[in-house]
Amino acid sequence: MSVLVYVEQVEGKFKKSVFEAVSYAKAIADQQGTSLSAISIGNVADSELNELGKYGASKVLKVEADQLKNFVNQAYASVIAEAAQKEGANIIVLSNSFSGKGLAPRVAVKLKAGLVDGAVELPTTDGGFSVKKTAFSGKAFAIATLTSENKVIALNPNAFGVKENAASVTIETFSPEVKSSDLTAIVKEIVRATNKVSLPDAEVVVSGGRGLKGPENWGMVEELADLLGAATACSKPVSDADWRPHSEHVGQTGIAISPNLYIAIGISGAIQHLAGVSSSKVIVVINKDPEAPFFKVADYGIVGDAFEVVPKIIAALKAHKA
Ligand code: FAD
Repeated sequence: MSVLVYVEQVEGKFKKSVFEAVSYAKAIADQQGTSLSAISIGNVADSELNELGKYGASKVLKVEADQLKNFVNQAYASVIAEAAQKEGANIIVLSNSFSGKGLAPRVAVKLKAGLVDGAVELPTTDGGFSVKKTAFSGKAFAIATLTSENKVIALNPNAFGVKENAASVTIETFSPEVKSSDLTAIVKEIVRATNKVSLPDAEVVVSGGRGLKGPENWGMVEELADLLGAATACSKPVSDADWRPHSEHVGQTGIAISPNLYIAIGISGAIQHLAGVSSSKVIVVINKDPEAPFFKVADYGIVGDAFEVVPKIIAALKAHKA
């Protein structure tokens, strides 16, 4: 029995959420008195794979098959399941990222495993193996008890943090057979639409709502986001009106995010919006209405006109950076 963590790479690099997943998986391995292996799929330099040792992985299986260079849900799930069987791993950890959300249930089916997606804490093991997770689009928490022998856990980004736990790591090439039935959809090329920070993975998000009146006023949102190295987001009516692309829509019917800092400008804080952002670590709300519901969940609130407040923040950040 051991623990296996899937380490998702993007253009050969690991994001912070991967190091969080490794740190979390290592803590579970310690809890269970066992070891932690990682599986990496795609072309990643050994120097990058070695980084995983810092967070407690003692072995990395690297899979570099040509057909698996780009993410293919079904094929990646088969490879992860095969790696788990090879390693005798009964607990498989992934990050609950865009691709993790697709992979985790598939891996669970292949291993006849119980699944917890959206995990936010380490399992407790007194009286069963139970994991706290988000439920109802982040509006509530649930405790899921896994009774199956095999267990798959998808950890929410920003829920556990990165914990250094140096282990000496060995890198082993793993060459699973890739079945053509797993390659029914193939990603031939990935073209970046923009160089901006990707919203699902962003640590800081600047978001605008209908209070900004129209698309012509998004310059200050973009400028603030650039200064903070942040991604931009918006409320549903804003993307419905085509002021912003639908890929920026956060909430119950959009993307659920959990950045370290979420800055909401001219957004009322409707329950459907909060469903996608309330697990952000720190929420800052800028709204001219002191009764706006968003203030009830804000860590910091600024009651004021966005068109006065945001330029002042931008000027202060520029002065600070100068
Ligand atoms: P408004 O409600 O119009 O609020 C604008 C805010 O801006 C107000 O609070 C106002 O005080 C403030 N404001 C105005 N002028 C200024 C100014 N100059 N400076 C500062 N503040 C100002 N919404 C989502 O966002 N995401 C979802 O996923 C989502 N899913 C939904 C699913 C369903 C089934 C339904 C029914 C609704 C859903 N909605 C969703 C819509 C949601 O109910 C709200 O209507 C929406 O979030 C409101 O968007 P808003 O806050 O940008 O606009």
